[in-house]
Amino acid sequence: MPEGPSIVILKEEVQQFTGQKIISVSGNTSIDISRLENQTIIAFKTWGKHFLICFDSFTVKIHMLMFGTYRINERKTSKPRLSLVFKSGELNFYTCSIKILEGDVNSHYDWSVDVMNENWDPKKAQTSMEKQPEKMICDVILDQDIFSGVGNIIKNEVLYRCYVHPESIVEKIPPHIKSQLIAECSIYSFEFLYWKKKFELKKHWEAYTKTTCLRCNLPFEKKQTGARKRRSFFCANCQQLYK
Ligand SMILES: [Zn+2]
Repeated sequence: MPEGPSIVILKEEVQQFTGQKIISVSGNTSIDISRLENQTIIAFKTWGKHFLICFDSFTVKIHMLMFGTYRINERKTSKPRLSLVFKSGELNFYTCSIKILEGDVNSHYDWSVDVMNENWDPKKAQTSMEKQPEKMICDVILDQDIFSGVGNIIKNEVLYRCYVHPESIVEKIPPHIKSQLIAECSIYSFEFLYWKKKFELKKHWEAYTKTTCLRCNLPFEKKQTGARKRRSFFCANCQQLYK
């Protein structure tokens, strides 16, 4: 599943269509696509893993799910879920979820929980985290209402950087470590963006899919952790288990 930074890259790649009128629409999405015809795109936005195409009185929300893809000015052989044609090019989305949000997009989203948004509010994340004291940190970091945009890669890398075991219980983690975790969710997301643009993201992974801890030269543990049962890669030697 694409994480927040990959959706920011998509937003940057489609900027050529901001202010452009859609001259034809097609696709097998269940939304009423006729509404999009002859509409002008006001802006593209992202909220975590959501890609948003904003029009005057409504917004098209696209979620890539597990296998969603897109093509700009080219097509795949498979049928698009949504295809937008402009005078100067086209934008095609495949195997994704598409919905329409009515009215002002700002009424649908709290931008301050998006770790890559200019309004990202780490203090708010701290407060929200403390409302779930008994949960495991590996679950809370993936909570899109607290850390919108953070996916499983970012989770693993942030926990490794901060020397925290994924099964640590939120209320047992010292406050300064919690602050560090929250800060790293945003910092790592921007590093992810920078590396991904240079096609060298994987080279920088220190935990995700790794088998050995570089700090201890010991084997990593690989386990589905927490209520979400998402894959965690961690070193039981240097990542502290707070419980
Ligand atoms: Zn280690």
